[in-house]
Formats: sequence, structure tokens, C-alpha cells
Amino acid sequence: MLPSFLRTDQTASFWLSSWGKPKDGCVFCVNFDRNVSKWLGIIEGLSAVRPLQRLTIPAQSLNQPALDVGKIFSLADEQQHYLLRVLRMRSGDRFLAIFPDSTTWLAQIQPDLVSFELLEPQAIHSELPIGITLVLSLPKGSGFDDVVRQVTELGVTRIIPVISDRTVLKPSANRHDRWQRIAAEATEQSERSVTPIVEAPLGFDQYLKSLSISNPTGDPPPTPNSGGFDHHYLCWGRGDSLHLLAQLRQDSVSSVQNVTIAIGPEGGWTDGEVDRAIKAGFVTVSLGKRILRAITAPAAAMAIVGAFLEA
Ligand code: SAM
Repeated sequence: MLPSFLRTDQTASFWLSSWGKPKDGCVFCVNFDRNVSKWLGIIEGLSAVRPLQRLTIPAQSLNQPALDVGKIFSLADEQQHYLLRVLRMRSGDRFLAIFPDSTTWLAQIQPDLVSFELLEPQAIHSELPIGITLVLSLPKGSGFDDVVRQVTELGVTRIIPVISDRTVLKPSANRHDRWQRIAAEATEQSERSVTPIVEAPLGFDQYLKSLSISNPTGDPPPTPNSGGFDHHYLCWGRGDSLHLLAQLRQDSVSSVQNVTIAIGPEGGWTDGEVDRAIKAGFVTVSLGKRILRAITAPAAAMAIVGAFLEA
């Protein structure tokens, strides 16, 4: 018996995954199951349904500041390699260029194969409505690579790696470049328009001090998270803090510009760090009754914030 949707001249949509470079109008054979050996299909409207490749354009490879229809930009060596060799794109092929100002443009590879033209700006609606900064104490080993990838997929806009009292890893300089590259790749993969900024690692106390520079009196805020544009939450599994979700609801965070969430290392925050963070304006929050690994907690926190803002 034929499945009911299989009739000659009828259209059915199927996801063509592992095809090299199919074109509209190609005729193909398909094997649906053992009883229905081969059907002829014609690919229709493929260019309309096939998601365009995304490419992050780093600030240093911009040869002119203004973005406008018809402007021509050079492709950096690694971008040429990726588009032309890895993806086998050709002159006239289109892709989505994500610029450092968070705009996304439909772009077209030029006949010289070393430049692209901006065709039109794209309205992309995949961002959370407010900025999310994660202050993350560096975990051991290469676990931070996965953390950067996951939280980028979940919508983070800024990542500040910190070295806290119990941090074991002392990062080498090239790690920072690597994290920024991973964030760019995850931005493309998750179809976002904003590439999160990964800051250079700094000491947790140094980070807290940088907050008090914007509050030069050095006095703690009269009530934490009062009236500012940024709310600060310190994930702490040991107190009897409110759950992050309940705290977000209580603070009506949809109307602030940014939320900052700090997550400690494998050994947790020291009591001194918790005290100093509270003095700097942080509110302690719980992520639930189970203690999560330092590399699980950032994704859990991001998922909670995302659900609160989008559901
Ligand atoms: N033994 C550590 C302690 O006593 O805090 C456990 C640290 S945990 C593996 C790593 C970090 O994840 C913590 O510092 C905290 O920021 C966050 N975390 C993990 N589970 C949490 C929870 N249930 N609530 C709040 N934060 C949590």
C-alpha cells in the first residue's frame, strides 16, 4: 500500500539533508520503503526553503565603516576558504553576513571570488529582548569551550570569564581568541544576529571593582537591583535564596536593559566572595534543589532566563 500522501503529481515536502548542492528543477529518485521502490521527484522552490549559510564578519576585516545596499566588502582568507572550499559556493551564491553592529545582510559572492556585495538588510528575530551577561568562573580543562557554545545558542550577549578564589584553571592568552571564535560559530549555527562578546579573563574582585566604578561613592546600593538598567544575580546553591525564575518575576526583568548572572567554579564561591558580591549589588539566587556542575549551571541559568522572557 502506498502511504496516502504519495500520489503522482502531488507535492509533498521533505527535508533534503545530506545533499551536496541540489538545484531547483533537479529530478531525483527516492526510495520510500521496501514496497514503494522508486519515485521520481522534482525539486521545487529549493532556494526559497533552504536556509542560507551565515557568516560572521569580524570588525577587523571591514574595509569600510558604512553598511549600505551595493557596498562591496573583501572576504578575509579564512572566509574565502570556508565559503569557496568548504561550502563550495560560487560567484553569485548568496549568504547571510552578520556584522559586528548586530545587523544581518543578504550578501552575494562577486565574480572575483574575493569579495561580496550587500544586497539587502535582513530582519532577524532570534534575539532575546534584553541583554544577558554571564560572569563565569573558569572551570577545569576545556569545559569552558562547551559552555561558550551552549550559552551562545541560548542567547547570551556577553561572557565575562573570571578567576575566583577556587578557580583551578589559569587560561593561556590564545584561549580567549578561541572562545570568541567558538561564540561566532555558535551564533551562525543557532541563526542569531548578535555574536556575544567574550571578554578577556579577569579576577572576580577586579570585576566587582569595575562595577563600583559606575557607582563612584562605593556605597552598596540601598536595595539590591533597585531602579538600575542591569540586574545582577549570583547563583549560589548553598543558601536559601529565591529560585532564579521567581526572582526574575519579582524584579519584572522584562523591562530592564540587561541581566547579569554569575556562576561559580567546581568548588563554589567562598563566603567572602558571596559577601563582596552582595555588597556590589548582586542578589543570590538558586537554580533548584540539585547542585549542578559548573559546566551545567550556565546553560540551566540561560534556559530559565530564556523561558521567562520568551514563553
Ligand atoms: N560545592 C560547591 C558549592 O558548595 O557551592 C558546588 C559548586 S557548583 C558545582 C558550581 C557553581 O554552579 C556554583 O558555584 C553555583 O554558582 C552554580 N550552581 C550549581 N548548582 C546550583 C544551584 N542548585 N543553585 C544555584 N547555583 C548553583
